[in-house]
Amino acid sequence: MSHVFPRHCHKTLPTASGGDGCYLIDSTGKRYLDGSGGAAVSCLGHSDPQVLDAIRDQLDRVAFAHTGFFTSDPAESLADLLIANAPGDLDRVYLVSGGSEATEAAIKLARQYWVEKGEPERKHLIARKQSYHGNTIGALSAGGNEWRRKQFGPLLLEMSHIDPCYAYRNQRGGESAETYGVRAADALETEILRLGPETVMAFIAEPVVGATAGAVPAAPGYFKRIREICDRHGVLLILDEVMCGMGRTGTLFACEQDGVAPDIACIAKGLGAGYQPIGAMLCTSAIYEAISQGSGFFQHGHTYMGHPVAAAAGHAVLSAILERDLLARVQTQGALLDRRLREVLGPHPHVGDIRGRGLFRGVELVSDRESKAPFDPARGLAAKIKSAAFEAGLICYPMSGTIDGRQGDHILLAPPFIISDAQIDELVGILSGAIETALAH
Ligand code: PMP
Repeated sequence: MSHVFPRHCHKTLPTASGGDGCYLIDSTGKRYLDGSGGAAVSCLGHSDPQVLDAIRDQLDRVAFAHTGFFTSDPAESLADLLIANAPGDLDRVYLVSGGSEATEAAIKLARQYWVEKGEPERKHLIARKQSYHGNTIGALSAGGNEWRRKQFGPLLLEMSHIDPCYAYRNQRGGESAETYGVRAADALETEILRLGPETVMAFIAEPVVGATAGAVPAAPGYFKRIREICDRHGVLLILDEVMCGMGRTGTLFACEQDGVAPDIACIAKGLGAGYQPIGAMLCTSAIYEAISQGSGFFQHGHTYMGHPVAAAAGHAVLSAILERDLLARVQTQGALLDRRLREVLGPHPHVGDIRGRGLFRGVELVSDRESKAPFDPARGLAAKIKSAAFEAGLICYPMSGTIDGRQGDHILLAPPFIISDAQIDELVGILSGAIETALAH
């Protein structure tokens, strides 16, 4: 009997015992093409020698030194490299151990900023429906994933959730993508005015929505309008790039493609590429200075923040992305993945939408293409596709998101940046078979 507390208590999971490039290998020797990088994590595949060497090298120097006493070379180098490549005025880095820690820190930093600035009445965080910002109480409160929130409602903090930017369902017939983008963004201003601008501290959003809706990019102009609205009302813009950042969409930060920069950015997943648990919150010097010239202390912290071995891994991953020109590779392989998905699944009567950017793609399944009606949630279609694909040797990330109050099914794809043309064909072939198998049950 296993004493590990698994996510699905009734399931017996295969044992992961090896990794080879884009493949994971279980203890029976079965190989699985990692079509989702776990959950958009393994951007360099599973056996990158440069990252493994950097980890070993740091372990030989020092494994841990508490940030209350020390900084470390890898933490400093990683922060320098991040800032040199970050958009806008982001110029301070707070290293943590994962995505939820990064978003929690962002929420608290935004609040402390306003307290230090002498505007303590700014306490409202506005977020979006169909979003995910992590599983800790603050991050879960900000997220709009009803399935994940359901049981914990009484524990969650009160936050506003405006409609997401979701063109497939919300763009009106005859409305241009640009007009829709502005209309969707204007929902933020409506909510700021309803709450009272002087009480709103920040707005948080994923530039490309991941875990809740399946790689949904914003409509053109959406984030530019969001930035304008935030600036008009002095509201901080927090962009959660935990899933879509670190090159996943073809630029290091996804928001670069929307032509905006946030006041606070959160990254994780692809930062450590799975080699070490690491996340980061980046903020502007304006925010940093308000605190350093105020109380001088960000009232937050975790024991393992700035962990030297995790930072060494993060630095090696980011160096690899930049030095091996992997952003360009994400763009070409992402375009190929999109093309193959459209060729093979585009005409399928139950494929409603294929979307995404770079190597971050989503497929939305519908019971009827015309009406876009989702499948009955009781059918558990996305989960069945995941099982059929896994059986056939493909890891893909299923999701049931909420659409108009009903569950909808999506599959998220986020393969390693090193995926080859042949492996893209293998991925799309197995996925297409798995969709047929799941629909037949
Ligand atoms: N934000 C986003 C956008 C995410 O996708 C996730 C993880 N799926 C998180 C935050 C939370 O990250 P973690 O699981 O590392 O805590």
